[in-house]
Amino acid sequence: MRIIRVEIYCIDVPLIWKKDNPHGPEDSLSEVLVRIMTDDGLDGWGETGGRVSFFGEGQADIAITIETVLAPAILGENPLNIEGICQKMQRVIPGHNSAKAAIDFAVYDLVGKYLGQPVYNLLGGRVHQRIPCGWSLFWKPLPMMLEDAQKAVELGYKAVKLKIGSQDWRSDLRNLRELRLILPSNYPLRVDANEGYSRIEAFKVLRLMEEYDLQLIEQPLPRWDLEGTANLRTGLNTPVMLDESIFSIRDAITATTAQACDIINVKPHRLGGLRWSAKLAAVAEALGIPIFASGKMSTSLGSAACAHLAAAMHNTKFEAEFAVGVRAIKEDIVRNPLVIEDGYIELSGAAGIGLEVDLAVVNRLLKCPPVIINA
Ligand SMILES: [Mg+2]
Repeated sequence: MRIIRVEIYCIDVPLIWKKDNPHGPEDSLSEVLVRIMTDDGLDGWGETGGRVSFFGEGQADIAITIETVLAPAILGENPLNIEGICQKMQRVIPGHNSAKAAIDFAVYDLVGKYLGQPVYNLLGGRVHQRIPCGWSLFWKPLPMMLEDAQKAVELGYKAVKLKIGSQDWRSDLRNLRELRLILPSNYPLRVDANEGYSRIEAFKVLRLMEEYDLQLIEQPLPRWDLEGTANLRTGLNTPVMLDESIFSIRDAITATTAQACDIINVKPHRLGGLRWSAKLAAVAEALGIPIFASGKMSTSLGSAACAHLAAAMHNTKFEAEFAVGVRAIKEDIVRNPLVIEDGYIELSGAAGIGLEVDLAVVNRLLKCPPVIINA
């Protein structure tokens, strides 16, 4: 079995509401879909997306990286050689993890279909039958944010995350106080500053925020500031999770060695796919650090890839956060969207990622003609 064709689709998926946080506003998801095809007629799909200020990669450069570097590197390869494909992608271009993730997801989908197994079985098996999910509250006027939180609780989500890190930390603190008041008692509440605070702001505001019983504090300082984050941790009782600081296993080791991290956010799009994420989960296990199952906001296709990982990793703690996009998009691109019921995701057990891409919808959302690369 050989990979003989790679197709690249750039689509914009409108959101029901505008997403806003320290990385800036977005009213649609700028996604890149990759379809890999083999000489025996099988195909696999992967979804990744651009977010330049977060990943350092945008839709256009992801597409061009896949077209000019990654697709030529994997043509002719046997998709069963997942590790070999991941290593080859590392050799031909450093970084560009979002682009690599799309290929990795598509290869896993294809191999799962070939073997008649869901992707979680390729990752070690399903240790979590049902995955509890959290909801993310983006920047909005306070009444709307509180309404969203109420809705998330009613829908059965098991935790909420408030985006903080704004220019005005006092308004962040006020939002948190108001939010805690309307949540059921002991309801898990977490905050994510997305690198938005300076050391001085973070020292002040996070200690005040701890009064509202935070489950965890995510990425309080800029990604490079491990020393500041380590200092911050010494004055806090709440665990600190790193997201933007960790693009590789090496980054995770550096951050934990620097005493800057209690929890690692595992976002497969940021780490280059499922293979690298599973390796990071094993390293985190050895470091004694729990992992947090996450993912870039995506349609069902990208979210489900992350769900397979979350189902297979025994050391995922906390309510997962890879499926926020599924309820935020105006229209999904698959015929059988990911189902979130009472705040849980239970994968169907279908082969591969388990979803059927609706090409008619994909073609309607296309930003430019698809790019086809044949062997
Ligand atoms: Mg984050």
